[in-house]
Amino acid sequence: MRAVGVHADVIVVVSQVWQTTCTAIRAGDEGFVVDSPVLPAELEALPALLEQSRFPVTGLLATHADWDHLLGRLAFPQAALGVAETSAARLRAEPGDAARAVREFDEEWYLRRERPLTLGDVQALPVPGHVELGGQELELHPADGHTVDGMAVFAPWTGVLCVGDYLSPVEAPDVAAPEAYLATLRRLRPLVERAEMVVPGHGEPLSRARALELLGAHEEIVRASRA
Ligand SMILES: [Zn+2]
Repeated sequence: MRAVGVHADVIVVVSQVWQTTCTAIRAGDEGFVVDSPVLPAELEALPALLEQSRFPVTGLLATHADWDHLLGRLAFPQAALGVAETSAARLRAEPGDAARAVREFDEEWYLRRERPLTLGDVQALPVPGHVELGGQELELHPADGHTVDGMAVFAPWTGVLCVGDYLSPVEAPDVAAPEAYLATLRRLRPLVERAEMVVPGHGEPLSRARALELLGAHEEIVRASRA
């Protein structure tokens, strides 16, 4: 796993599996971890890595309910997980699916984890909306179309925008609903323009210019696939 400092108050960790990203954001004496790395060793190393960097973890967020983004509680079992209302509804409709997917992945690769994934009390967050963090405010924006659920998380005081599974430099657009996907890209554009750095769900953090380039390219790909 690679740790990349993108701002004094933001560390991005990139998993060796699918380059799934995990973003730690701090403000005052509070901090959130958005999404998660995938491998057991990465999740075991994460608390010490953040502690050494003086990043407190007071809560977890997930950009969407795909299992590889939901593993934060394996590293921070005491922390509550906040997700968009759409993701909370999906988790309610598919109880046990995420835990089962983790088990299947682990069986395929002979991986061992100390405990099974339990999501605990999932907090459904209104999106669009805001969540408070150490005297600052995170913006939550709807981001569906890759899946039926999801949100982008923007920390305006840092200029860092976590978009979930959009704008990836390492995978082609994975589209469940083309119209919703295009609407999300349209919604993301002004946010990317306000951002300094964009963290895709998979792949290294992007400069604003690179993110805008990918946004245009992905719009074209999705539009063409629709025809
Ligand atoms: Zn993903």
